[in-house]
Amino acid sequence: MNKPATILIVEDEAKIASLLRDYLEKVGGYQTRWVDRGDEAIGVFDEVSPDLVLLDLMLPGMDGLEVCKAIRSKSRVPVIMVTALVEEIDRLLGLELGADDYICKPFSPREVVARVKAVLRRTTLTSEAPLSGLQIDEEQHQASLNGRKLKLSPVEFALLSRLAAQPGRVFSRDQLMSSIYSDYRIVSDRTVDTHVKNLRRKLAESDSSTDLIESVYGVGYRLAT
Ligand code: CA
Repeated sequence: MNKPATILIVEDEAKIASLLRDYLEKVGGYQTRWVDRGDEAIGVFDEVSPDLVLLDLMLPGMDGLEVCKAIRSKSRVPVIMVTALVEEIDRLLGLELGADDYICKPFSPREVVARVKAVLRRTTLTSEAPLSGLQIDEEQHQASLNGRKLKLSPVEFALLSRLAAQPGRVFSRDQLMSSIYSDYRIVSDRTVDTHVKNLRRKLAESDSSTDLIESVYGVGYRLAT
């Protein structure tokens, strides 16, 4: 049998933490570890090497943003940010912390277990099954699909490599633009759509059987996993 995944809960409210632990252990079958201060989170993270982190935003010692950055500076482990304000989520997305999902308080513990499961499934799939046939050489600025070199413009290459860095993750048009242009405020959403359209066409020319780039209605784009 596989060892159950370990979830690190960073949460200063003891009641919430114990509810989460209860559900994650009994319903989800996970192991949990709890830390109630932001400034102690990284120490515990290093100690337990969790499979996923549930990270509250408002924490004593160090806030969730800083903790998330510190984790991302050393690890790609999935992080789910927990915030008390729905309006915060937009701002958090804009900061590009690299969190994998966001949950708003108050939440139902069952919902949290479901989200944890979904994120773990997604990230395991991604690391176990690398995209079939797509290869990206960052140094040479060259991408190929099924062994065939793609003739991409610099912008198309930047788009593809951004999407491919985190397959399955949805990027907003803003996020894609900011990774391509130094001053992306001058670029319209349509510009991104046009580049994506051209990129899709070139991918299809190389292999018409796959649709690697998916549109996520109202949000943006992602690379299919
Ligand atoms: Ca808190």
